Amino acid sequence: MTAALAGIAARDGLDHGERLALVRSGDLGSMHSWELVTAVDGPGTRLTAFLNGCPLRCLYCQNPDTWQMRDGDPVTAEELLGRVDRYRRVFAATGGGLTLSGGEPLMQPAFVAKVLRGAKERGIHTAIDTSGFLGRAATDAMLDDVDLVLLDVKSGDEDAYRRTTGRALQPTLDFGDRLAARGTEVWVRFVLVPGLTDAVENVENVAAIVERWPQVSRVEVLRFHQMARDKWGRLGLWYPLADTEPPSAELVARVRDQFRAHGLTTFVG
Ligand code: SF4
Repeated sequence: MTAALAGIAARDGLDHGERLALVRSGDLGSMHSWELVTAVDGPGTRLTAFLNGCPLRCLYCQNPDTWQMRDGDPVTAEELLGRVDRYRRVFAATGGGLTLSGGEPLMQPAFVAKVLRGAKERGIHTAIDTSGFLGRAATDAMLDDVDLVLLDVKSGDEDAYRRTTGRALQPTLDFGDRLAARGTEVWVRFVLVPGLTDAVENVENVAAIVERWPQVSRVEVLRFHQMARDKWGRLGLWYPLADTEPPSAELVARVRDQFRAHGLTTFVG
């Protein structure tokens, strides 16, 4: 069965075992949505695919509707690569490419590996946007097909990381170390949330972590905002940051300067 046929069959009622086999082979994935973006999620114009499934529960998550794999739409690797094909000229003109985001793309490692392989066969620049928590699910062969990792370092010490995400920091550190050993380019992302991630020491700890990875070409400080509040409400979830203000200009400048003081090229988003 070709992947495209498999996708159609999945929507038309494969039994659980058949569907699982397609997921395991990487032919079938679970996707929330996709969009064409410029100047975010990697260089140039990107096709960003938001995949379903995430083991973290970040208090500021903008995409809580991607947490569960079962809530996504079935999509075949072939279908996603068909979308990539449509934008090849745009990617070539802008230096852009494909970004797999989420959710957590490494929840679907076989699917991600297959899509990345297909993109590289087409000569397309590839990026994955990940917390690194599931970095062990990324095989070396998969990482050979990744040009850029957008690595979210959500806090710099264990307690703050667990408070922010509900999970442990160490897997992210291990993944970053592995990417450093491989020389894979990384953009580090840090979401600045007043009262949660903004402590001077926490930011210093993030900077110290990043400093040990020489292949990091930029740090992006992303300002917390309230755009996700309604989404949490619609999903019937209690939003813990409902009363949190976006960071002030002074706070953003302080944090940016902290990273820059460590010699890191830093942008604010
Ligand atoms: S890792 Fe991303 S998708 Fe997962 S909970 Fe955190 S912000 Fe949301």
